[in-house]
Amino acid sequence: MFGCAAAIVTAVSTALIAAIVGWSVPWVALPFAGLVAFSAAGALLPRANWLVPTATRANGAIAAVALTFDDGPDPQITPRVLEALAAAGAKATFFCIGEKLDRFPEIAQAISAAGHEIGNHSYRHPRLMVFWRRQTVLEDLRRCNRSIASATGTSPRWFRPPVGFRSPNIGRAAAALRLQLVNWSLRTLDTFGADAEHLAQRVLAKVRAGDIVLAHDGSDTNHRQRSNTVAALPQILAGLQRRGLRCVTLTELLEGRTGDR
Ligand SMILES: [Zn+2]
Repeated sequence: MFGCAAAIVTAVSTALIAAIVGWSVPWVALPFAGLVAFSAAGALLPRANWLVPTATRANGAIAAVALTFDDGPDPQITPRVLEALAAAGAKATFFCIGEKLDRFPEIAQAISAAGHEIGNHSYRHPRLMVFWRRQTVLEDLRRCNRSIASATGTSPRWFRPPVGFRSPNIGRAAAALRLQLVNWSLRTLDTFGADAEHLAQRVLAKVRAGDIVLAHDGSDTNHRQRSNTVAALPQILAGLQRRGLRCVTLTELLEGRTGDR
């Protein structure tokens, strides 16, 4: 379905493109502008599903959510995230950057040994991957798969593209490696500098069964620490527990079964 945000993005983009090209080709350009805007919305809106099929949430049939942590592993933050999850008996999915996996394979092993899932988040986290050729995307994703396999001996099932942007080339490359694309239905907004209290309150006010929650245990630029995420986690986990929502891996949430191990 065409969501409200998608409709707004498409309408605004169409108007902008029409304004730019409108001087010379006023009306003929409008259908083309609409198509470009429609594609742009499909690529850029994290929950859009019409350009590249992408899982963003489960149907809510089971009382569970999937917490996902992007951009790690990080030697300062990830072990503390693992501690908080273990204390609450929660499982999660970590979308790791391949280059960091190669630097910190022991953290990847700890993630895997604790029963969490590791997903592919590209090898170097290129923010402009949407403009890449299929073969270049394929090589990057394959390289990250190799990093996951050499650290943990497992093969990922899920791929989250850098910053959630998608293109048909990304979709085809992921499919060639049997990776399914996953974005999210609820952001913690932990990258925006909010304090732990606000992060927890936001998540607990919005969360519903079936949600895929986006959080971060690392930073693609390495300039930001995620201590606010760690500090918010116990409160988030306790709040989810009070509501009867279990924290499970993506495989369990989306396919109703536990992971490969
Ligand atoms: Zn990322």
